[in-house]
Amino acid sequence: MPTAAIVPAAGRGERLGPGAPKALREVAGVPLLVHAVRGLCDSGQVDLVVVAAPPTDRAAVESLLRPVVADVALAVVDGGETRQQSVAAALDSLPDDVDVVLVHDAARAFTPAEVCARVVAALRAGAEAVVPVLPVADTIKQVSGATGATGATGNTVEATLDRTSLRAVQTPQGFRRDVLVRAHAASSAGATDDASLAEALGVAVTVVDGSDEAFKVTRPLDLLLAEALLRARATSAYDEEPPGPGAPQAG
Ligand code: C5P
Repeated sequence: MPTAAIVPAAGRGERLGPGAPKALREVAGVPLLVHAVRGLCDSGQVDLVVVAAPPTDRAAVESLLRPVVADVALAVVDGGETRQQSVAAALDSLPDDVDVVLVHDAARAFTPAEVCARVVAALRAGAEAVVPVLPVADTIKQVSGATGATGATGNTVEATLDRTSLRAVQTPQGFRRDVLVRAHAASSAGATDDASLAEALGVAVTVVDGSDEAFKVTRPLDLLLAEALLRARATSAYDEEPPGPGAPQAG
């Protein structure tokens, strides 16, 4: 089962503030993208990594990653205007023999190998699409008119969702290649993950345990958390794979 990992890394990362494209921001002196690709290679689950890079940085990204991948094959393609277009460009470039595809955000650069292993194991066991998930710790409310990323003060609450049935979804998300190709072919623009495209086709999406360490570096605070996590890993001060994610806390 040749397995490819697609890494969309062409986002500008505006929520992190001004600076380099998000995937090239450094944590502990190393770009996020290098952390992410190294993690995929070290997981032992993938034969090929395809990165969708900002078109202006494609050559630089290729030389940055070449020493990282060792015996895993590497390709770098031009990313698109949206995450979905970046994933589609990488998917189009895959060699014919690949039959399993992981899609992993560069921004989830510190995902433990065990998460990749759980996703691939579920695919090998027959799942068509797999997502790693965590319970939701916060109470989640639906708010009127809240279409922007930050919401707006003064809008009102329409509903409180049942937290016990909600899960926060991470990457890598795993797919049988034919499922992911069909999902992207049928998609309308604007999906924020690939599993939702598969769901729209009626494909059952299986869930496996995610990890707190697979958080997405999005805001400046996440960079601090990432630095602290790496320091703790270097001194073995943090258990990389604690027992399965616990039940959501009250509040
Ligand atoms: O913006 P967001 O954090 O949701 O992006 C998730 C991932 O998708 C990031 O790794 C980002 O680099 C990537 N992306 C991309 N092409 C875009 C926008 C985002 O590859 N046009």
